[in-house]
Amino acid sequence: MCMKIELPCECGKETAQFNNLNNILPPSVIEKVYCPECSGSIEIDKDTMLADNGWIIQYDMDQVRFLLAKIGIQADRVTPEFVFDERYSTWQGVTPTDMVQSIKEREEIVKLAKVDKKKYIETIKAWSINRMQAFMEAGWRKAQPRTA
Ligand SMILES: [Zn+2]
Repeated sequence: MCMKIELPCECGKETAQFNNLNNILPPSVIEKVYCPECSGSIEIDKDTMLADNGWIIQYDMDQVRFLLAKIGIQADRVTPEFVFDERYSTWQGVTPTDMVQSIKEREEIVKLAKVDKKKYIETIKAWSINRMQAFMEAGWRKAQPRTA
């Protein structure tokens, strides 16, 4: 089971939701989160930070490396990008606020289900495709096609 992890950004305006794969890493590996408003003056330290569409996550990389070493991942492979992309500590959903937003949007569409089942199925399909498209175009890291 994945524990729900919620952290306020440094200015306190936004709340980011995280998902740490199988809880191998505890929430404390996320040192700081900056939203697009509070990230402006931050200089990105590539050794500890991951930048995603105006947001910045700062990881406690010593703790991350120590804990991942226990499951056999060599320290030299472990970068903020690795931690994020391999889902050891990443947004829940595609963006830091994806889950909250999608629940709200979905509630609206679900109302349709009671009225018109067929329309509802079409609408919810289109909705999820359009959402992913919008995330990709906005530049969110998790929405980009991965070149492995
Ligand atoms: Zn902020």
